[in-house]
Amino acid sequence: MIPFVRQMAFEYGRVDQVSPRIRRVIARNPGPFTFHGTGTYIVGSGEVAVVDPGPMLTEHLEALKAAVAGETVTTIVITHDHADHAPLAAALASHTGASIFGGEPHPDRQAPPNGVEEGVDRAYRPDRVLADGERVEGPDWTLRALRTPGHTSNHVCFSLEEEHALFTGDHVMGWSTTVITPPDGDMTQYYASLGKVMAGDFRTLWPTHGPPVTDPEPFLNAYLNHRLRREEAILGVLARGPSTIESLVSEVYVGLDARLKNAAASSVLAHLLHLVRKGEVVGDGRPGLERVFVLKD
Ligand SMILES: [Zn+2]
Repeated sequence: MIPFVRQMAFEYGRVDQVSPRIRRVIARNPGPFTFHGTGTYIVGSGEVAVVDPGPMLTEHLEALKAAVAGETVTTIVITHDHADHAPLAAALASHTGASIFGGEPHPDRQAPPNGVEEGVDRAYRPDRVLADGERVEGPDWTLRALRTPGHTSNHVCFSLEEEHALFTGDHVMGWSTTVITPPDGDMTQYYASLGKVMAGDFRTLWPTHGPPVTDPEPFLNAYLNHRLRREEAILGVLARGPSTIESLVSEVYVGLDARLKNAAASSVLAHLLHLVRKGEVVGDGRPGLERVFVLKD
């Protein structure tokens, strides 16, 4: 079992000091992928960085402006280009003069066949794309980019070096597992990126949604094991014969919230593509959910 953390005291728009160098403001965009909403982090004091300004909500922009009144926002970092993370960056940058840093703009791929995606901010254009390990700094903070493709191809986590903390975006969330939606989402990359976070030995993980993970090691082990068990379950079903994604979802995800059915189908597809790559499974040529997968002998 993943030791999920879901308890958090908050009010929309309020600024909470959550660590010596980190403040958080939560946007009013609750939902099945966002938990209570997007948690925007403000890092440092005086000359600050903002992590994931969030969705295009005037109320949230006003709350952020009020939170940093009398300070200078020099830096905006974006974990990835989903619509609950990136769209407010441009408005906040034009108000503050800050520079935007993150991964590449969205690759111009087709939308996934089953229409699952948290919504992509196709207007996202960073001033500079950060390489893995690259740093941006303020007077009392250092953010280091940790490139973590998987949830999206352009996902980046940012470590706050002074606190041995990591802003994990949607790569690792305390309240939930993350959705991997092919073709932009990629399970093979996701496993590698999870390994990177594990190797970083961080003291605290700060996801964009929900409360922090304060004991990362057992949490990350359980998070990885959950994926590996799901992979085994998929292989177990396929061992009994060929199967579509749809029937794999109903066998592997028992008692699933109906709103998450498409997301589950995406994750199953992501697992299958990973297994195809490993040479354990083959799929026929049919498109989308009709595709039939079978164990390779
Ligand atoms: Zn996302």
